[in-house]
Amino acid sequence: MNKTGAMKSIIYIIFFSISSAIFAQEFTLPELQFSYNAYEQGIDAKTMEIHHGKHHRGYVRKLNKAVAESKLEGKTLEDLLMYASSRSLGVRNNSGGHYNHTLFWEILTPTSDNSAPGSASKAFENAVTKSFGSMDALRKQLSVAAAKRFGSGWAWLVVTPNKELVVSSTPNQDNPIMDVSDVRGIPILGIDVWEHAYYLRYQNKRGDYLSAIWSLLDWGVVSEKYAAALNDPILAKIEKENWPEMNAFHKVLAQTFHASEKGDFKPLRNLSGALFAKAILLQDSDVPKPLLKPEVSLALVRLEKKCAALNKLVGKNAREKSLMKMINGVHDIFHEVQGLCHD
Ligand code: MN
Repeated sequence: MNKTGAMKSIIYIIFFSISSAIFAQEFTLPELQFSYNAYEQGIDAKTMEIHHGKHHRGYVRKLNKAVAESKLEGKTLEDLLMYASSRSLGVRNNSGGHYNHTLFWEILTPTSDNSAPGSASKAFENAVTKSFGSMDALRKQLSVAAAKRFGSGWAWLVVTPNKELVVSSTPNQDNPIMDVSDVRGIPILGIDVWEHAYYLRYQNKRGDYLSAIWSLLDWGVVSEKYAAALNDPILAKIEKENWPEMNAFHKVLAQTFHASEKGDFKPLRNLSGALFAKAILLQDSDVPKPLLKPEVSLALVRLEKKCAALNKLVGKNAREKSLMKMINGVHDIFHEVQGLCHD
C-alpha cells in the first residue's frame, strides 16, 4: 500500500469508528424519578437500590451484549420482544427484564411532600368497571395472579387487541408483548414478584409485599398508559400476528420444506398428513380481524387443496421431483398469505 492509500485507510477507519460510536443505539438504564428511600412506605431503600442499581442495570448490560451477539442492533425494544420465540434466550430474558422494570418504576409514585400518586382517569375507570366490575375487584384479581405465579415472574394488567383490559401473569422476564405469552397485548401495569423485589423486608411473605405495594401505585400513570396503548401501532401488529393456527401451520411447513430443499424428504414423507391437518384447521380458523378479506380466505382454500394433493402424492410414494414441485406450490401460497398479511 502506498502512502496515500495508507492515509486513506486511516481516515476511513477514523470515520467509521466515530460514526458507529454515534449511531450505535445502546439501551440505557432509566433514572428513577425519586430517591431510593422515597418508597419506604412499601419498599425499603436497600431493595430499591439493589433492584434498580444492580438487577435492572444487569439486564440492560446483558441485553446490549446479547443484541450485539445476535446482530440485532438498531431493533426497537418492542421489536425484540414481539418475536421472542425466535430470539436467543439472552435477548428474550434481558429485553423483558429491561422493558418490565422500566414500566415498574414508572407506575410507582411514593407519597411525600412533593408528590402523591395520581388517580385513575374516567376513561380508565370505565374500562375497569366494564372488565372487572370495580377497581377493588381489579386489585383483587391482580393480587391473586401475583400470589399464584409459581417462582419468579410478573402479574399484569393488559390492554388486549380487542381493546379490553385483562389480568394475566407470565414466568421469568416474559411479558404480554412477546409471542410466547398466552395473553397478548400491551401491559400498562406490572407487578414484579421475583424474590429480589421484596425479600429483604418481606422474606417469604409475598402477600405482605403485595398488600403494601398498592400505596405506591400511581393510577394516574396507569391511566395515561391505558390511553396510549389504545392507539399504539404495536397493538394492531399483535392483533394481526395473533393467529395460532397460522403459527402451527408454519411450524410444520418449516420442518418439511427446508429439509426437502436440502434433499432430505423424510420429514415431508412423515409429516404430510400433519401438514394437511394444520391446513384444514387454518382454513377453519378465525382470521384476525385486520386480515378479514376475500383474498386471504381464497388463498387459504387453495392452500388446503394443495396440502391435500401433497399428502396424496406422499401416500402414492411419489418421486422426489414431484414432491418438491408440490411443496414448492404450498410454500408459494403460504408466502402469498403472509404477503397479504403484511400489507
Ligand atoms: Mn425485578
